[in-house]
Amino acid sequence: MPPRQSPPKTARPRRATAAPARLTPAVAEEIFRRFHARDPEPKGELEYVNPYTLLVAVVLSAQATDVGVNKATRGLFAAAATPEAMVALGEDRVREHIRTIGLFRTKAKNVIALSERLIAEHGGAVPPSRAALELLPGVGRKTANVVLNIAFGEPTIAVDTHLFRVGNRTRLAPGKTPLEVELGLEQVVPDRYRRHAHHWLILHGRYVCKARAPDCPACLIADLCPFEPKTVEKAAAGPRKAAPADAA
Ligand code: SF4
Repeated sequence: MPPRQSPPKTARPRRATAAPARLTPAVAEEIFRRFHARDPEPKGELEYVNPYTLLVAVVLSAQATDVGVNKATRGLFAAAATPEAMVALGEDRVREHIRTIGLFRTKAKNVIALSERLIAEHGGAVPPSRAALELLPGVGRKTANVVLNIAFGEPTIAVDTHLFRVGNRTRLAPGKTPLEVELGLEQVVPDRYRRHAHHWLILHGRYVCKARAPDCPACLIADLCPFEPKTVEKAAAGPRKAAPADAA
């Protein structure tokens, strides 16, 4: 009896790991056209009274909500709205004002250190340069981008957790790191929409394209977004109330 031959081993076909597709420039254009049509002058939600307090508020907002930061900074900025006043207030008092915010000890230290540096190296002013901003204690690329955009009108795009998620879900700018997403957005956002792109995307991520449950039925760009599966409208709990038009 001839020996049984085992079937030849074949390599299992591998799944293609193609880079995620990007939206076409025409679709990207349409997305920002809609954001602009609905809200031509979007605003951030952090409260500030001058470029310095904006810088401090953004530093404090790392891993904290804007609402939480605003609660703390109302008292802080009433007590100190310039680097000189902040240094005079002192680290202990700053810490007391911001103790409801995560990482408040480190942040209080950074606020005093960056204020001292602004006084020593920039005459107490916030420098309008990414390189100079990133040298300040507690200031990274994202914070520098926010300050450059809001305080100095630069068309920078700061990628936080919301922009990172929206950039990937919508395929506007897929990327594995915030920097990849930022550079992708810089390429795809049409120049005339660049200045406000950060705010449109952050507000979209915060209120519509939310992390756990994106609100696709209410989304302005649902027909252009390739993300699947999209969420669907929940069935109403009871009989639908008559809208005024129904009653007519
Ligand atoms: S359709 Fe859904 S997943 Fe796509 S951007 Fe809108 S909310 Fe986000």
